[in-house]
Amino acid sequence: MTLRDRITRLHPPGVPLLFITVGLVTAALTAAPIALLLAERRAAGPGQFAEHGLLVALFLVERRAAPEAARPDLADLEEIVPPEPVCAAPDQAEIERLTALDSGVSARNWTHIIVHHSGTESGDAASFDRYHREVRGWSAVGYHFVIGNGTRTGDGAVEPTVRWTAQRIGAHCPASSMNHRAVGICFVGDFEQSSGPSPSQLAAGKKLVRQIARGFDIPPENILGHGEVPGAQTACPGTYFPLDVLREAAAAER
Ligand SMILES: [Zn+2]
Repeated sequence: MTLRDRITRLHPPGVPLLFITVGLVTAALTAAPIALLLAERRAAGPGQFAEHGLLVALFLVERRAAPEAARPDLADLEEIVPPEPVCAAPDQAEIERLTALDSGVSARNWTHIIVHHSGTESGDAASFDRYHREVRGWSAVGYHFVIGNGTRTGDGAVEPTVRWTAQRIGAHCPASSMNHRAVGICFVGDFEQSSGPSPSQLAAGKKLVRQIARGFDIPPENILGHGEVPGAQTACPGTYFPLDVLREAAAAER
């Protein structure tokens, strides 16, 4: 008589299957830490074996003793305040360095500056570059400059892209042929939701816009939000973007 036959005789049908399932699950849960230990023993010396065993045992005991303790409740979460983003807005000398072209590259005849927001909470030139190449199928990130918001680069950090350093046309505003005549600047963030760019982003943007407007003799009225361009159907750069602040910054230096 097999073991299965004996169990079947002692218990109603279905119960043996339950026993076997519970047995297998228990065995697997017990075997996993032991297998880990054996693997570690092979990797490390036998001296560390006991130490690792103790750690695993402590881990298992702690997990059973206080499964809820590790989970913070809502009151704890409200106490956690994100760190203040560090201002990374460049000074004038840095702006001049960031707007320099690759050697041997001659400047295009830019007549406009088009301001965008990314419409995302986070991002930088590298992440937009990947998105524009892999999803949109473009040769590179569409903008000439990206101004960070402290998520993937510093708050107010200015990144020139290859479209600027190599003076290539943009891929940010086909309306009114702006891709061919406008410098595209993207501020990371979504300014259609509740607020505009950070003070550091705006400080960096003012310096950058002023520098480009001066260098290419671009009048303040040619500094436009993406949605202000005739033919563009977009809310970019968002209701809360203070475009006049950038236009005033450019006007002040003329
Ligand atoms: Zn846009």
